[in-house]
Amino acid sequence: MLSLQQNITIEDVFQAAPTPLNTEQKRFLRSVAAFASDAHTGQLRKSGEPYIIHSLHAARTLAEIGMDEITIAAGLLHDVPEDTPITLDEISKKFGPEVSYLVDGITKLSKIRLQGSQQEYFLENLRKMFLAMAKDIRVVIIKLADRLHNMRTLDSLPPEKAERIARETFEVYVPIANRLGIGEIKAELEDLCFQYLEPVKYQEVKKLEETYLHEGEQYLGRVKTQLSNLLKAEAIQVKEIEARTKNLYRLYKKLEGHDMDIKRVYDLLAIRIIVPTISSCYEALGIIHREYRPMVGRIKDYISLPKPNGYQSLHTTIFGPEGRILEVQIRTEQMNDEAEYGIAAHWMYTEKQKGSWRDFFIRKKVAPETSPKTSPKVRESLTWINQLREWQKDIGRDDTEFMEGLKIEFFKNHIFAFTPKGDIIELPEDATPIDFAYAIHTNVGHRANGAKVDGKMVPIDYQIQNAQVVEILTTKEMKKPNKDWLRFVKTTHAKQSIRREHRADI
Ligand code: MN
Repeated sequence: MLSLQQNITIEDVFQAAPTPLNTEQKRFLRSVAAFASDAHTGQLRKSGEPYIIHSLHAARTLAEIGMDEITIAAGLLHDVPEDTPITLDEISKKFGPEVSYLVDGITKLSKIRLQGSQQEYFLENLRKMFLAMAKDIRVVIIKLADRLHNMRTLDSLPPEKAERIARETFEVYVPIANRLGIGEIKAELEDLCFQYLEPVKYQEVKKLEETYLHEGEQYLGRVKTQLSNLLKAEAIQVKEIEARTKNLYRLYKKLEGHDMDIKRVYDLLAIRIIVPTISSCYEALGIIHREYRPMVGRIKDYISLPKPNGYQSLHTTIFGPEGRILEVQIRTEQMNDEAEYGIAAHWMYTEKQKGSWRDFFIRKKVAPETSPKTSPKVRESLTWINQLREWQKDIGRDDTEFMEGLKIEFFKNHIFAFTPKGDIIELPEDATPIDFAYAIHTNVGHRANGAKVDGKMVPIDYQIQNAQVVEILTTKEMKKPNKDWLRFVKTTHAKQSIRREHRADI
């Protein structure tokens, strides 16, 4: 749970940072906080609190997820140009161009024209978020921290406005937090939205959870001791073992699929085990399976096959102590931090000390893909952001197509398929061998004339499943892609490549 403290000062922001800030960084941030506080003097939030409290909360969330001092500074100043006479120029002179660049990004992001239907408004909003993300992802992370505090204080707004903001948060901010892998922010936003958008169901689920959890917690207490003893007896170094509960919205979604019968939700009770290394994750899993029978079909290896947002962990559901069903998650400390703080945590583990977070994300600087020091994980997120950039440049003219593509490729679940050589290709669900072919190379796509999946011939519109090995058969000579493929291909890249070839005819 991210912190909910009410009386907050810049010192609390420092406290929240997972790696302590140095004297220089603290001095810098103290002066930024004093400046922001002066700028907002006399302004109150709808809740009646001084305005600066809001900025400090946003900054604190940024510190909590491990963002650098430049981003925290921009968080402190994020509403200054919008709500006070102070200009970006002044901010730039006082605190440097990078801080003002970020603040400018956030200010631009808030200026969204309010016209058209609610749906159009959300789409416009989403589009802006993506453009900002492609430019400098820190802007979007600050926006998430800003929105989190606004959602936490939503009850000071009139109900209609509160509902509109909750709806927007659910449609725009939750998916983005999810895609960036910032699980902590995503879960809290989701529950806050649930509370405002479905108040009756929210109360119902909350009650159900409380009744059931009280007893469940006692059980988990006993399980913790047993599993921890079991693993220690086998010389597994358990760093941490914790009982875990689902956030309310996720629980609600589960319950919906099980006739609201909480006894049928197997992963309501869960234990998370943190061990030092990847190999000890697998060892621990083996020991637990030897002792407790696993449930068929519920063992998930997200270490070998991470979720598209980078999530890594082993999951299994066992018939645990006292014969009760429970979920066990096993992961390393780094995986755990990355699950909670997402893209920010990748950074913490790789390049934090060099402070090159900014070089990394700002356009037109060192191409990070080529930097040998970048971890594969960070490189992966970066590839994804670069793709977004390229893609948006490419489509630019056609807004509908851009949005349609985004909705499919960004929010739908992804699958990972393999080439016969073992390279991983990420695809949207329901993707076909033609999408796979174009993901490898445009020329492979054009020349595709058949496909094998796990060694067997399949139709060209076959729906690839997660972890399948796909081999594309191609013609030797160059040919024009088949126009009929447009009827079933899923990725924007495949669609565009096929259309481009045919457009040349006209
Ligand atoms: Mn704000």
